[in-house]
Amino acid sequence: MGTTTNLIHSVPVDELTGSISVPIYQTATYVQEAPGVNKGFDYGRSNNPTRLALEKIIAQLEGGHSGFAFATGLAAIDAVVKLLSTGDEIVAVDDLYGGAYRLFTHVYEKFGIKIHYVDTTDADNVVDYINKKTKFVWLESPTNPTLKVSDIKKIAAIAHANNALVVVDNTFASPIAQQPLALGADIVVHSGTKYLAGHSDLVAGLVVVKDEALAEKIKFIQNASGGILGPQDCWLTIRGIETITLRVERQCKTALAVAEFLTQCEDVDKVYYPGLAHHKNHELAARQQNGLFGGVVSFTLKDDTEEAATAVVTTTRYFKLAESLGGVKSLICHPSQMTHKSVPREKRLQSGVADSLIRLSCGIEDAEDLIADFKLTFEKLKIKIKQPV
Ligand SMILES: *Cc1c(COP(=O)(O)O)cnc(C)c1O
Repeated sequence: MGTTTNLIHSVPVDELTGSISVPIYQTATYVQEAPGVNKGFDYGRSNNPTRLALEKIIAQLEGGHSGFAFATGLAAIDAVVKLLSTGDEIVAVDDLYGGAYRLFTHVYEKFGIKIHYVDTTDADNVVDYINKKTKFVWLESPTNPTLKVSDIKKIAAIAHANNALVVVDNTFASPIAQQPLALGADIVVHSGTKYLAGHSDLVAGLVVVKDEALAEKIKFIQNASGGILGPQDCWLTIRGIETITLRVERQCKTALAVAEFLTQCEDVDKVYYPGLAHHKNHELAARQQNGLFGGVVSFTLKDDTEEAATAVVTTTRYFKLAESLGGVKSLICHPSQMTHKSVPREKRLQSGVADSLIRLSCGIEDAEDLIADFKLTFEKLKIKIKQPV
């Protein structure tokens, strides 16, 4: 069976009524026949049928043992970090998502968890930092916003040889492009806010684990800490996931066209997109991501100033200026003043987030219109576009 057939039919038909859409069980508690005798549900934090449906769908889509739904992507990440104890260490990709960096550094370091930030685009760098205390190698691939790609399979082998688990934040690739568990990862996390829900209308987080032992631990933390996703948002996330294949395939195709257009523009300096042949790990990305390179493209301007970038992001018509990504409507963002504002400038520049770096999330609009949006914007701002020969 194909992935999408499998996905569509993993959305259950309601046994009670035949409802083809999963019912929203908006309830806090469940009536019991006798103390402890119930239909498998006892309290809204511990379990909910709408949430259970979403958790089974994401587990199947990622090819894992079980899934867990949380209030946000960061709540999902937080639940995974809670598997650790004081003295444990994490080897993490160096341009980790800003919110995860903030959580690791400003919340968990004070509980005695040490994090080493490493350029994982070269798997050998992991070997230099991994040690007996390392419990997780934490990857994002591609990363935000410079779209660095790491070899999940190779790094999983290194981690496992050192008794560490591999956690992959699969938000940017989405399960349509990349299935980290099949590549050897142990845990996958998602910001469901992005490609999974796909319509920029909710925030959500998901965790998928490869085996029962991890499932029991995450289930315990989910109930103990309580950062669950409510039934309405579980339903909306299911509704979004149903069309993920169509959306992501289209977004990837459009992103490649936009990236190719940008590389032809004289006043555009660097274009970051794993689908371009000059990308450092293009071949790895092609292999690891089923030929789907994602819907996010980043670029810098030759006039490498915040002012030049501000002019661009406030001039585009279809690319709306907003944080987040992965929705059906295209978004544009200026990381140095938005998502990466809290990162010190030196550190930001080191990780490639230049003053003029602009990040695009391609939606499902027609690619020609999105390219025309940039042509008009660049003409208006006198940013030179080299005519293709
Ligand atoms: C957005 C994002 C998160 C955080 O998710 P929220 O739903 O905003 O809490 C984590 N990782 C990545 C890669 C993201 O893009």
